[in-house]
Amino acid sequence: DALPLEVKDLHVEFRTRNGVANAVNGVSFDVKAGETRAILGESGCGKSVTAQAIMGILDTPPGYVTGGQILYRGVDLLTLPEAERRKVRANRIAMIFQDALSALNPVFTVGFQLSEQFRKHRGMSRKDAKVRATELLDLVKIPAAKQRVNDYPHQFSGGMRQRVMIAMALALDPEVLIADEPTTALDVTVQAQIMSLLAELQRERNMALVLITHDMGVVADVADRISVMYAGRVIEEAGVEAIYANPAHPYTKGLLESIPRLDVKGQELSAIKGLPPVLTNIPPGCAFNPRCRYAQDVCRVDPAPPLYQVSASRTSACHFWKEVKGDE
Ligand code: SF4
Ligand code: MG
Repeated sequence: DALPLEVKDLHVEFRTRNGVANAVNGVSFDVKAGETRAILGESGCGKSVTAQAIMGILDTPPGYVTGGQILYRGVDLLTLPEAERRKVRANRIAMIFQDALSALNPVFTVGFQLSEQFRKHRGMSRKDAKVRATELLDLVKIPAAKQRVNDYPHQFSGGMRQRVMIAMALALDPEVLIADEPTTALDVTVQAQIMSLLAELQRERNMALVLITHDMGVVADVADRISVMYAGRVIEEAGVEAIYANPAHPYTKGLLESIPRLDVKGQELSAIKGLPPVLTNIPPGCAFNPRCRYAQDVCRVDPAPPLYQVSASRTSACHFWKEVKGDE
C-alpha cells in the first residue's frame, strides 16, 4: 500500500532581488500512518517551505517547486489536475501553524469557522455543522465547548487558541497532519499539554504526523523518525533513539548540545557558533563547513557530501560521519 505522504527529491526556489534562493535542495522523506516524522532545523533551513510546498501555499514571496514529487498514496500532487489536487489538500492533508491568531479569522466566531468546513466540504446544514463544531472543541479538550463555540479567536488564551486550530485541522479527518512549530509561541507548560494532545489525537486517528520544529527538546518524546535539515537539505535521517544516543552529523550533534539539561548545574549552553548560510549564497561543498569543527579541505569543495548510509535505516550527509558518531 502506498504511504500517506512521500516527498521525493523536492526542489524549491525563490526568485529574490538578490538572485535565486535555493530554499529546498533535494529533500526526501516519507511518513507512515500512525507515525511521527520530525523535521528539525534552525529557522531558514527550508523546513517550513517544504511544508508549504506540500500544502500548495507557496505564493509569498514568489516560490516555485522546481523539481521532485509530493506523493499522496502514491499519486504525485504536483502532476494532478488542479481541481483534484485541491481536493486532496483540503480533505486528506491538514496543517497547523505556529501562530493561531493569524491563522484564524478574527471577525468570525470559532464555531462559525469550524462550521464553514462542514458546510462547504460535507454539505451539512448550519445546525448540524454547529453540533459537529462543538464536538470538535470537546475533542481538543476545550472546557465548556458549548459556550466557547460562540467565542471569537481573541477571547481564547494562546494554548486554547492552538487547540482551536488543531480542531480546525482535524475537522475533515485528514490522513496527514503537518504541524509547523505548533508550540513555539507558547510557554513551556502549555507546550507540553499541546504536544501530548497532538500525540493522543494522532494515535487515536492513526494519522501520519509531520512535526516541524527547531527544538530538539520537543521532538524527543513524540517523534519516531527525525530528518535534520540544513540549508535546504536533509543532512541526517534516523530513528529518534539513534539520533539522541549518537548523532552522526556535526550539526545534529551541535543541536543536541544546545538543549538545556536540567540535571547539569551552571552548564554553559553550547549553541552552534555562526549562522546558517544565506540561501542565495550557499557555500560550496558542505553547506555547514564554515561552522563545523570537523571540517577539512574536502568539505570546502563541490559536490556537497551525499547522504552516506550509516546503517540500514539511517543516513548522514557528512564525509566524516564515522568520526563524528564514534563507537557505540
Ligand atoms: Fe563538517 Fe565536513 Fe561533515 Fe560537513 S562534511 S559536516 S563540514 S565534517
Ligand atoms: Mg518556520
